Formats: sequence, structure tokens, C-alpha cells
Amino acid sequence: MPIFKSQQPDISVPWHLPIWTWLFDSEYSPLTKFPAKDVKGFTNAVTKEHLSYADIKTHSTHLSTVLRKNYGLQEGETVSLFSPNTVWYPVAMFGTLRAGGVVSGASPAYGIDEMTYALQKAESKILFTVPSSMEIAATAAKNAGIPKERIFLLEGQLEGYKTMAELLSEGKTYGDDEQIPQFKLPAGKKNKDICGFLSFSSGTTGLPKAVMIAHSNVIAQCLQVEQITPETLRRILAVLPLFHITGLVHQLHLPVLLNANVYMLPSFTMDSMYQTVQDYKLEEMLLVPPILIRMVREKEILKKYDLSSLKRFSSGAAPLSAEILELLQQTFPQTAKGEGSGFKQGYGMTESCSCITAHPPSKYDYKYAFRVGTVVASTEVKILDPETGKECDIGEPGEICARGPQIVMGYLNNEKATSETFDKDGFLHTGDIGKIDEEGLISIVDRAKELIKVKGEQVAPAELEDLLLGHPDVEDVAALGIPDEYAGERPKAYIVLQKEKRSNPEESAKKLFKHVQAKKVRHKWVKEIEIVDEIPKSASGKILRRVLRDMAKNGNRGL
Ligand code: AMP
Repeated sequence: MPIFKSQQPDISVPWHLPIWTWLFDSEYSPLTKFPAKDVKGFTNAVTKEHLSYADIKTHSTHLSTVLRKNYGLQEGETVSLFSPNTVWYPVAMFGTLRAGGVVSGASPAYGIDEMTYALQKAESKILFTVPSSMEIAATAAKNAGIPKERIFLLEGQLEGYKTMAELLSEGKTYGDDEQIPQFKLPAGKKNKDICGFLSFSSGTTGLPKAVMIAHSNVIAQCLQVEQITPETLRRILAVLPLFHITGLVHQLHLPVLLNANVYMLPSFTMDSMYQTVQDYKLEEMLLVPPILIRMVREKEILKKYDLSSLKRFSSGAAPLSAEILELLQQTFPQTAKGEGSGFKQGYGMTESCSCITAHPPSKYDYKYAFRVGTVVASTEVKILDPETGKECDIGEPGEICARGPQIVMGYLNNEKATSETFDKDGFLHTGDIGKIDEEGLISIVDRAKELIKVKGEQVAPAELEDLLLGHPDVEDVAALGIPDEYAGERPKAYIVLQKEKRSNPEESAKKLFKHVQAKKVRHKWVKEIEIVDEIPKSASGKILRRVLRDMAKNGNRGL
């Protein structure tokens, strides 16, 4: 049985609909399915600012018109969003999509170099940000050739920059019949041919690449997840970053399809998160392992809130330990019993537009929680032996490969990485090692690719290696992830020093730690440096990462 098919009924993807039409002007739209008074929306959980999905439709219509008519945005051009979670983020996103543009989210923690890289790779023409990120945004935009007049504020005010409110007023000066028509698929094209998003991922190797996500990928993924979402899920917490694929799908699109309310936290604290659960009686929390770890470790704070509404947790983006699962059951006993309670996981990657597997409601029980769920609808998985390439059977570990309507189009302007990652039969090679059991549940047992995951966020070893190689003290370098109790993993760098620097390794290490801190966002900071005589390499000069991983396991001589 070399190919494992989903046990769920197939979904039917409406291939003729672009995302904006699908969510705001089709039989799938909450605006079609529900009376106006019952239509939900996005709420800032702290300020209570609320935009209903009807507001989002109106605002995104005006914004699409003004972006096209006043700022020249053409179909297929990219708009970048560089901001923490705000209710105005979906306005910019859906406005861009309505105009036929492409949305590219960037981490609000990025520094100048990282943001410049993201804007350049995504070939962005317009940038939305917030006042606190403007210093970095303005410099990065300049580096990437985006003029100041095309940098806008999603919220807040800043001398010399147009705000979203001003753009919407400009949009409203056009009458209803002057608004641009919603984006239509070009003749002969389906929504799987049109890129709607560019998200960043390093995939299995190399530097971060712009992942082309088609309109159909997001639509299919939402339908796949809707099928295994309890009808009662009407209130959704949005603490995960919106630029990441999990936030993009589960906090921005799926809730519109479900007509669920989304509660956004502009800046994350444990208090504001619990306050939101209490205020809105949330039943489910979609989180990543580092937050779950804090929830079981920081017990004092729990006493301040009534969290009895919580029925289950949902986790993804990184592996979870058995110990944390056990502590969660003890800390939140109400999640361990009763219908619809328990724990669920999703497993996937940016290149699979979020989930390849997830737990259906029948498997919310904690006893299944350590596995990452069953294959989602209309999806096939094969597991390949990394040595022989042979298809594995039940119980045999190998590289997980997946095919389905959520598997993305490929990497922008990078044929080589695309053909290495997506095979000719349409399977995505994930670089994750896993196995499937008799019940169809998948477990992730290892990661064969280079990727380091810090608090669920990606760190590409190649990016750190490039940076460190540019330092005058360094002759050669290799980076990899080492276990970290809180973050899951953190980067470690193996360094060969230049000959004349070898007499004082401590001094060099100090400089190198600082160099990374100055240039990279915090989660990429190096936790440990080990000075070595040489980096293990193959005859062709490729870093032997497996040897490094064994070195890391067998002894720690880090500085
Ligand atoms: P990203 O593209 O940032 O979502 O990263 C995808 C990678 O995160 C996957 O290839 C896995 O290595 C890891 N990952 C995602 N979900 C899980 C999970 N539930 N358990 C273990 N690892 C996961």
C-alpha cells in the first residue's frame, strides 16, 4: 500500500472562483449565507475595534479601487504587509486580492536587511506598515525601490505617510459604478493558475524563498479544515502571527468561511491572551508549542482568570513533547474529558498551505495527541525511505511526501528549488521523517532537512552561515538547531576561525554573537558557538549535517 489516501470524503474545490469572490460574493460567503445581523468579523480584543465581514467587503472594495486608480497597482503585482496583528491587516489583504494583486506578509520583527530581502524577492510595489515599524520599513522600501508615496499606514498616524483611513476616503470619492470590478480569472485560467500570496520559507535547503500560493490552495485548505471543524467553533483566537501560513489560513480566511468571530491581539502577553479567553468564553485555542509550554509552567497567572470555557487546544508548526501534553491535561482538566474536548494538532508547511494532516473531532482525545492527525481530505501521502527512495509501508519511517489541492505552485523565480521540492507526479517532499499507523495517524519522528524551528518560526541555517561567513574572523561555518526547552530549538554555529584569530577564540565568539544580534531578528540569534578545526563536508563540498548533528548530540563544547 505505497500511497495512503485520506479517509475523509473528498472536497469539491470551486476552481472558477478567485478568493475575494469566493469569500465575499459567492454562495460560500457568510454575506450570502447569513442575515446581515448575524455576520461576524474581526475584533481587536484589547480596544474592541470591530470590522464585520460586511465592513471588510466594503473597505476592500474601496481600497482595491484606490490602489489601482490612484497608485497604479496592476494585476499580478505584489503588496507587502509588515505589521503585527491588527483588524486592518485583512482590509489591506482582501483589498489587494480584489484588485488581482499578490499579498506578501513579513514578520514585524524583521530588521532592515531581512525586510529588504523580503521586498526584493517578492518584487513588492506597495508596502503597508505601522508607525512602530516605519524606521525599518522606510529604509527597506528605499533599498527595494519602493517610493515613499507607496508606503501606507495600516493604523496610527505619522507625518508624511498616508493612512488606511485616508486611502479609504479616497476610495469612497469614486461612486459605486466607478469602483474597479472584482478580479476575474483570465480566460482559460483556473484559480490554481493564479498566485494570491507570496510567503517565505527555506523549504528543505538554502535561503528563504518566496512560496507562490495559489488562490485555490487557500480555498482548498479552508474546505479541508472546515470539514473537520466542529460546527460550534464560532469564536477564534488570533495570537499567531498573520504573516505565517497558519495565521493566514486559520485566522484570516477559514473564519470568514465559517462565519466565526476572530479576536486579535495586537501584542501578545499571557495576560491579554487569558483575558481574551475569559471575555469571549473561547472554547478552543490555536497555539504553538512555546506558548503551551508557558501555560503549564507559569501557573500563578492562571489563578487570575476564569478559563473554564476552554475545551481543547490546537497546536502546530513545531513538535510537541509528551511531557507538555501530560502537564496540559493536569493543568486544564476540563480539556481532558467530554465531547469535543481534548487536543488536536495540525502538521504541514508553508509549501502545503498549512495542513497535510490534522485531527478530526473523533480523534481529539489526548491519547492521539502525540501524533499529528490523519491525512486531510483529497490528499495522498507517500513515505519514502531516505536511503533507497522506496515507498514505505505502515509503521516504517521515511520522508513524508504529499499531493493534494493545497500543495502550492512552487518558488518564485527559482526553478531549481521548485523541481527539487515538488516532484513530477505532484508530490511535495517535506524533508520531515514520519510514519503512518494502522489507524491512519501520522507521527513525525525526525527532520531530515536543514531547517531550524525556533518557537515555531523558521530559521534557515544557510542564512546564518551566509552572514557569519561574511565576518572577517570566520574561515568556515555550519549552523544547525540544538534542543531548547522553551523555544523547541535554537541555532548553534560551528565555526572555523581564520588562522590569525585562532589564539583568542572567546574574543571571536563574543564578536560573532553580537554580529548576529545586530543583523538578525531575535529568534535567529545564535545560542551557542563551537570552534572547530574543520566543518565536515562531502567530496563535493556539501556540509555533512548529519555528522554535525551527531557531534551536537555527543558532546557540547560550545561557548
Ligand atoms: P513552516 O513552513 O514554517 O510552517 O514550517 C514547516 C515545518 O514545521 C514542517 O516541515 C515541520 O518540520 C514543522 N512542523 C509543522 N507542524 C508540525 C507538527 N505538528 N509537529 C512537528 N513538526 C511540525
